[in-house]
Amino acid sequence: MSETGNLLDFYTNAPLLELGAEADRVREAKHPGNRVTYIIDRNINYTNVCVADCGFCAFYRRPKHGEGYTLSFEQIGAKIDEAKTLGAVQILIQGGHNPYIPFEWYLDLMRYIKRNHPIHIHGFSPSEVDFFAKLFRMEAIEVIRELRKAGLDSIPGGGGEILVQRVRDIVAKKKAGADRWLEIMELAHNEGMKTSVTMMYGLGETLAERMEHLQRVREVQARTGGFTAFICWPLQPENTPEMSHMPKTGSVEYLRTVAISRIVLDNVPNLQSSWVTMGMKIGQLALRFGCNDFGSLMIEENVVSAANTTHRTSTQEMERLIRDAGFTPARRRQDYSILEAPAHAA
Ligand code: SF4
Repeated sequence: MSETGNLLDFYTNAPLLELGAEADRVREAKHPGNRVTYIIDRNINYTNVCVADCGFCAFYRRPKHGEGYTLSFEQIGAKIDEAKTLGAVQILIQGGHNPYIPFEWYLDLMRYIKRNHPIHIHGFSPSEVDFFAKLFRMEAIEVIRELRKAGLDSIPGGGGEILVQRVRDIVAKKKAGADRWLEIMELAHNEGMKTSVTMMYGLGETLAERMEHLQRVREVQARTGGFTAFICWPLQPENTPEMSHMPKTGSVEYLRTVAISRIVLDNVPNLQSSWVTMGMKIGQLALRFGCNDFGSLMIEENVVSAANTTHRTSTQEMERLIRDAGFTPARRRQDYSILEAPAHAA
């Protein structure tokens, strides 16, 4: 059997705790010691107007819908200032595919933030970069270079879903395809930018297709080394336009998926636990299934909360949860460098 076949067999059939133990070994080898990191940031969704019509998205509004919005620079600046007072070291800025915003607006926004509210800008997923390239008739590399020159620091792995075209044709056919999504990440890496990478599963894909997603990420990482972290979470079907009938995948499936991701992606340094979607207890358990990072103390997360999944926490609570799981908490920056030494050992 091929290596992929063996891994698929392990993912499908291994007892849960065996999978977890193997993933925990990979985590321990990559992150010796007992530290689990987290970051404080703010997710700013600059517009909810979108023409991509993803079947799983509860957040967007079509153009001309009464609930559509685009934030002003001043509103974005105020959100950054508020976040900074709460200790935020970055903003995650993403939005819908809004056909009414000119490219200059994005560049001006980057410059405005850097000039008036300086902070690390983690923004514009490959799907947005692809949308800008098509709308403004530019090459994707030009879009990346221009945004970077204006102030963009790193690119988030949003819009990855399942990087297998059969699945994307069903759930997100207007968005960047699987090849294109990975191509844009590779372009950014080759420009010297770091990015994260994600997988949203439970969209009707097979386990083999999830494995294919992981293998494809692994291949890009082997060439570029540009992915800093991998994050996966299940579809939140509530309130979605086309997928509310889908069964919500459970905690065991999440832990199995996190574990196999840690094993396959042993060339990606960090794995984040997704307590926002899974809740605190499973978020803690994931730290024994391969995760070395508790993700973000998010001040705002419109897309997940639009699907009724709201798990919020505070810094103290975040650190308590990490300690209770048997680890030592440490606050980090976007590049995973440590911002604040742990207060006490676990
Ligand atoms: S997931 Fe993003 S691209 Fe898709 S409909 Fe929602 S806002 Fe638009």
